[in-house]
Amino acid sequence: MSDLVDLYQEMVLDHNNRPRNFQKLEDASNTADGYNPLCGDQITVYLKVEDGVIADVGFQGVGCAISKSSASMMTQSVKGKSVEEAEALFHEFHAMVTREPGTEFENSGLGELEVLSGVCAFPNRIKCASLAWHTLTASLNDSQGGHASTE
Ligand code: ZN
Repeated sequence: MSDLVDLYQEMVLDHNNRPRNFQKLEDASNTADGYNPLCGDQITVYLKVEDGVIADVGFQGVGCAISKSSASMMTQSVKGKSVEEAEALFHEFHAMVTREPGTEFENSGLGELEVLSGVCAFPNRIKCASLAWHTLTASLNDSQGGHASTE
């Protein structure tokens, strides 16, 4: 089990050091800002939605390793997906990180996002991990620029 934990930590650090899609999209159709006051994490999510599909996604922001790596993984997992698929993924991710610690969760295709499954045992970190997803949802819901808060 500790090998698995090490692997997870390595992936989190890798995404933190080399965040994927860490860029502003100049031609974004949807954007939103998110803020987690508990930790000070800030993020802006940029989406290019075409025909109900997330054609491109980027993010910028400052925050802890969990928030940044979660955002990086979020962008990788929703890119090329339909808006409905991305929302379904958010619900699964949210269920995973907010479940009762020590309980199993139904893995239905979260893939790499599973590295954050241990976050449920750290209540202060759940908001760090879910900030990018709340911000994604806010941007999908408001093409004029939305705002997300984990509070
Ligand atoms: Zn944080």
